[in-house]
Amino acid sequence: MGYLKRRIFQGMGAVLPNSFVQGILTASLYQGSLKSVCSPLLNCYACPSALFSCPIGTLQHFMVTGNVPFYGLGTLSAVGATVGRMTCGTLCPFGFLQDLLYKFRAWKVSIPAWTRYFRYAVLAGLVFLIPYITHENWFSKLCPMGTLIGGLPWVTLNPNVRSMIRALFWVKIAILLFFVTTSSMVKRPFCRAICPLGAIFSLFNKSSFLQLAWNPDTCTKCGKCQKICPVDIRPDRNPTNPDCLRCLDCTRCPSLKLTTVFHHRPFDVPGTPPVEVAGANSARSAA
Ligand code: SF4
Ligand code: SF4
Ligand code: SF4
Repeated sequence: MGYLKRRIFQGMGAVLPNSFVQGILTASLYQGSLKSVCSPLLNCYACPSALFSCPIGTLQHFMVTGNVPFYGLGTLSAVGATVGRMTCGTLCPFGFLQDLLYKFRAWKVSIPAWTRYFRYAVLAGLVFLIPYITHENWFSKLCPMGTLIGGLPWVTLNPNVRSMIRALFWVKIAILLFFVTTSSMVKRPFCRAICPLGAIFSLFNKSSFLQLAWNPDTCTKCGKCQKICPVDIRPDRNPTNPDCLRCLDCTRCPSLKLTTVFHHRPFDVPGTPPVEVAGANSARSAA
């Protein structure tokens, strides 16, 4: 996918799910039938212009009420089994915001790969376990996307909400500011280390219908794919990496392409026998 095309998709992912303009004009929430639909994006359902439900909010709601979140898990599993983490790379507004913030001139820092395990802890703790025990939706209370498009607009639009500000609101603001600041220095810190929705989708990257394929016969190991990757990974080492957002930026290199799980030799030209290249097997096993 071209750079511009991805930005257009990301723009649509930010605008279309938040197109209930009446909500902003009248300081009210959309409560029509679309609100029962889980979008595959981290997009706060409490935003005055939001048309859909946040999947993480839905999962927590079921846990708070002591029920198994079949609906939310089923929806997310269907999306993940089809495209893996592609909605993170092409549609999610909070991912888009982090991509834009990284464009700022700032001191750039890499974070180690093991930070990815935090997001599974956040999923297990703040989305499932703690809401089940405390009957409070703790991830949503702290979510920076919720603060950005839910909390801040309400505080701006409604004086009654302003009068109810407590210490927790300032904690939420601090968390939002932390991720806004660090996103200018680190590639997508929230997506890589914290986001429980990304954690769910990343479980499907190895087996989803859509796959990223790498061609060891033509790859020169130049590392340019990592430089343009929004999560700083090398797809030539592991094309099914759980951190991969399937943004397809790296498919500008002819050694990488989008394929399907059923396509076992995606780089073969039909009708020609496969060519064995010295070192290809060791490169494959290194991946
Ligand atoms: S990891 Fe979360 S915040 Fe990042 S793009 Fe995916 S859903 Fe959005
Ligand atoms: S996949 Fe392409 S960009 Fe990445 S190391 Fe190989 S040749 Fe370079
Ligand atoms: S490895 Fe390629 S498809 Fe995956 S996130 Fe990086 S640039 Fe995007």
